[in-house]
Amino acid sequence: MFKRAAVLVVGCGALLAGCGNDGLQAEQEEIISNLIEAGHPADDIQVVDGAVYVGRDAQVNLEASQEMLQTGEGSAEHYRTTNLVGTSIKRICINPTAQFNSYSRLSQGLDMAIANYNVLALRFTLARGPTTGCNANITATTTTGTGISSGYPSGGLPYGQIVIGTGFQNFSVDLNEHVITHVLGHAFGLRHTDFFNTAGCGSGEGSGGVGGILIPGTPTVDPNSLMNSCYSTSATGEFSQYDIIALNYLY
Ligand SMILES: [Zn+2]
Repeated sequence: MFKRAAVLVVGCGALLAGCGNDGLQAEQEEIISNLIEAGHPADDIQVVDGAVYVGRDAQVNLEASQEMLQTGEGSAEHYRTTNLVGTSIKRICINPTAQFNSYSRLSQGLDMAIANYNVLALRFTLARGPTTGCNANITATTTTGTGISSGYPSGGLPYGQIVIGTGFQNFSVDLNEHVITHVLGHAFGLRHTDFFNTAGCGSGEGSGGVGGILIPGTPTVDPNSLMNSCYSTSATGEFSQYDIIALNYLY
């Protein structure tokens, strides 16, 4: 309880606009309450610009937090949330903004990230928009610096937005491929693989015992996982063998 209150105070200190709004604050409180009940450690939860995040880069809206209250036991393997993309979704279109497209390495990284998923022949395919025949859409937009963010699915739909910092233009195309594939993984319901072991990254996800559902066939530690919270600037942008097992299991 104390930790939860502390989270809210920090959130409001950083967000003057949201703190005067009772409706928004009540919604934030419910999201945080649901996340804690679902097993997320309090220090894994942040409020930034009125939005609630877990693991630093995955936004959780009210509906997603309610869906997370369905059961989930954790262990130290690849993780998914309780929230997944529904079986009716066959074609997910990723629609970059004009600003996103103007950064050549972000743009190339998006094509490579889409290819990473499509080569696995999952039950949905990804297409770069604008295009037609989409069952679901994700906007690819930008922020400053090297921030990245996304969110978890809700209502059977992938999260509707990924955000990539334009600072990644200064890094390799492979690193752009890596971070875009990573945030898409969240949008499809993957948690951080190193959920229980993020001390080196300072992400504060903690060592709580629940909050993720283990994916059978994946190991305790996978230093090559694209879904680790930490990444190196020399990242290859390719899935690890266990990432592929996890995705094939889910989809
Ligand atoms: Zn992440």
